[in-house]
Amino acid sequence: MADESGHRITDTPETADVIVVNTCGFIGAAKEESVDTILEMAAFKKSGRCQRLVVTGCLSQRYPEELHREIPEIDHLLGSGEVAKVAAAIRGSDQVVDVAAIPAYLYDHTTPRPASQASYFRYVKIAEGCDRPCGFCIIPKLRGPQRSRRIDSIATEVEALSRQGVVEINLVAQDLTTYGTDLPFDVDRPQDRPSLANLLRRIGSPPKGQADFLRWIRLHYTYPTATTDELLAVMADSPRVVRYIDCPLQHIDDKLLKLMRRGYVGKSVYAMVERARKYLPGVFLRTAFIVGHPGETESAFQKLCDFVTEVELDHVGVFTYSQEEGTPSAELADLVPPNEAEQRRRELLRLQRKVAKKKRKELLGKSIEVLVEGQSEESEYLLKGRHSGQAPEIDGHVFLTLGESNPDVQLRPGDLIWAKVTRGADYDLVAEVESVIQPAMRTQQSRRLPVIG
Ligand code: SF4
Repeated sequence: MADESGHRITDTPETADVIVVNTCGFIGAAKEESVDTILEMAAFKKSGRCQRLVVTGCLSQRYPEELHREIPEIDHLLGSGEVAKVAAAIRGSDQVVDVAAIPAYLYDHTTPRPASQASYFRYVKIAEGCDRPCGFCIIPKLRGPQRSRRIDSIATEVEALSRQGVVEINLVAQDLTTYGTDLPFDVDRPQDRPSLANLLRRIGSPPKGQADFLRWIRLHYTYPTATTDELLAVMADSPRVVRYIDCPLQHIDDKLLKLMRRGYVGKSVYAMVERARKYLPGVFLRTAFIVGHPGETESAFQKLCDFVTEVELDHVGVFTYSQEEGTPSAELADLVPPNEAEQRRRELLRLQRKVAKKKRKELLGKSIEVLVEGQSEESEYLLKGRHSGQAPEIDGHVFLTLGESNPDVQLRPGDLIWAKVTRGADYDLVAEVESVIQPAMRTQQSRRLPVIG
């Protein structure tokens, strides 16, 4: 498939004339991975047919001069806001380093987007950048101030994807809950104010009289104190919006939250979880914590452990603190030794594993909606999918078997089905196929998948 500039995309770097590496510069581990990938791709200039190496994204936004100096194989360096210049760089522009001090790019529904995911799910970015002051975070410097897309643009993209057979849309932004605060609106028409709640009012129900496939809209990420009653009530009233909230909490200890400049205290986090469960019974909650931030004492960490055990969230990611130059947290004293931070990360994950096991058990015997994804890597005879409480790429899978009552069912990626949970592991489930709720859109590529009992 050729794109608008006449280039064809290949998945194999050894056959590419030009390689574009999109980098991340968020934390230490991501920076290392990005540099390793650049070096790996640079080798294809010798061993493959690659003639030009283009590096884009947050790492080149953050360290353009250093990368230019240290890795001479790089032909062009573009910042995180120079997306529109990638085609020129592929052709070979004169400008080697092109990085704006403040990134301003924002795509809309007219921007051509070749799909890099399976045909039944998409990420839709509704805003770029962030205005929050979190002390540990370099993202506002890398991505610039928040720029929100218009509700009309997002709705047009979402409905077009739905007509094309997309069943699941993951709305993404650095902080979904501040969506729209940078856009103008008519003060006499507060009902039209661009906000996440109003966006969900617009796209959260299927349009009448139109063929549509979209069944799951998922939110990544909300801010604890901005996950308001209004938002939760709209989620509850929107049939397409899944009962799933991805809300990074970062910590629970008041002193740590203050050092992190998060603008809330532990009590508000407990209250948010309670409110979410009141408005959305059965809601799946995902969060992320940072351990080892400067000033995290043993007793502060213990509070985090107590929270995880007590509140029983569904999915928890734990990161060790990464000191990022240019952030307020990097100036703080009372550093936690890296090995201590790593031990805390493991301990928190150990506690969460117990919670996760208990939660999986609660699903045993229940019928759940599953989006079929394809063959499992575990076995060519097993299919895998996800239920609505499992986000793509991060939350585990449901492995599917056929029951005696249902031996002939044929499934395709993108089918939405009912399945009964028969077994649960730490993060995955096994379920028996019951019936098809909505078949996937038939395309020339769609094919039946074998399932065994
Ligand atoms: S809200 Fe998220 S992206 Fe924004 S500064 Fe805080 S941690 Fe960074």
